[in-house]
Amino acid sequence: MKFPIYLDYHATTPVDPEVLKTMLPYFTDVFGNAASRNHEFGWTAEAAVEKARSQIAALIGASDKEIIFTSGATESNNLAILGVAEMYKDKGKHIITSPIEHKAVLDTCQALAQKGYEITYLPVDSTGRVSAEDVRNAIRPDTLLVSVMFANNEIGSINPMAEIGKVCKEKGVFFHTDAVQAAGKVEIDVAAMGIDLLSLTAHKIYGPKGVGALYVRRKAPRVRLSPILHGGGHERGMRSGTLNVPGIVGFGKAAELARRLMPEETARLKRLRDRMWDAIRAELDEVYLNGHPTERLPNNLNVSFAFVEGESMMMGMKELAVSSGSACTSASLEPSYVLKSIGVGDDLAHTSIRFGLGRFTTEEEVDFACRKVIATVKKLRDLSPLYEMVKEGIDLKSIAWTGHH
Ligand SMILES: *Cc1c(COP(=O)(O)O)cnc(C)c1O
Repeated sequence: MKFPIYLDYHATTPVDPEVLKTMLPYFTDVFGNAASRNHEFGWTAEAAVEKARSQIAALIGASDKEIIFTSGATESNNLAILGVAEMYKDKGKHIITSPIEHKAVLDTCQALAQKGYEITYLPVDSTGRVSAEDVRNAIRPDTLLVSVMFANNEIGSINPMAEIGKVCKEKGVFFHTDAVQAAGKVEIDVAAMGIDLLSLTAHKIYGPKGVGALYVRRKAPRVRLSPILHGGGHERGMRSGTLNVPGIVGFGKAAELARRLMPEETARLKRLRDRMWDAIRAELDEVYLNGHPTERLPNNLNVSFAFVEGESMMMGMKELAVSSGSACTSASLEPSYVLKSIGVGDDLAHTSIRFGLGRFTTEEEVDFACRKVIATVKKLRDLSPLYEMVKEGIDLKSIAWTGHH
């Protein structure tokens, strides 16, 4: 086993060796500009880009022409939201989203709010899901766009996409989804799910960093976007700039692999993830699953460990590369806004750990991680007077605390 063990696949993934192999010639031999129409170098590059476009389209049930290449999902989310907001501003200035979206959606909506747009944040239930009924109730005559993520990057909860899409179609409102975490993990079908705009990024599906895509529906309805980058009119005028050919080729290969490996890979990840949760629960009490028990990504496990201190826990298990729900590294001590939004209290949010499993995670690594987590929590709880009191049957709520707690 190599240490530290990488269990942070929601943050990024390594490039699959097959992806790298496919990319390499495009840095050197096949280096043409895909927009050069006058010679072989350009044509070869363009053909490679078009192949990648169709590999990515196939992953989500789109047609090739509906894929616009970007620099990543942050840009895709910006382009979808700002592009619709600007293009259709005469129809209205109302956008609906959820409070647990990625910052690339939330901050883009905030930027629009500064410019006079009105943003409605849908309620999320205690498992982190949005309901189609709440979407229906939030839509107004001046609503331009509903942007709801496919699956959450912290707690893995999967939203009822087809139901939300149906409501949006009925109401004639565009539906955008950030599907970064769902891609390659869950079946995505933009037609069946009524999705009009969908954001992807290569580096979360074993492709390279710095390349992404936005799916933009071409008919029923056709979505038009105001560009945020102006220039040579690449990508049907929606995203100017010389295409990152090697990155795009790698993204295409990664999408093809994701589609081909998905049935087997998701079954394996789910088995490992469940094995982890079962082991933790068998050895520790006062542990809480964050997110939905079944409607969740197969590779996600997010757990709060009561009566330990988040920072001490992370310090105690340096062999594991995981994410914590506590933002101790940043200037603020605010815990995760996602956990806060689904009603997890500050104490439990600070002691939550996100385990993200992936293609190269082995059973041996998972078993090591379980042993490490269990031992660390037990050790910290042995030192915790609070935990001892609870074990002795004292109701903590009955205690009159002195001073500020
Ligand atoms: C990683 C991530 C993004 C950002 O993607 P980049 O390509 O890194 O900009 C957006 N949304 C979600 C849900 C993510 O997990």
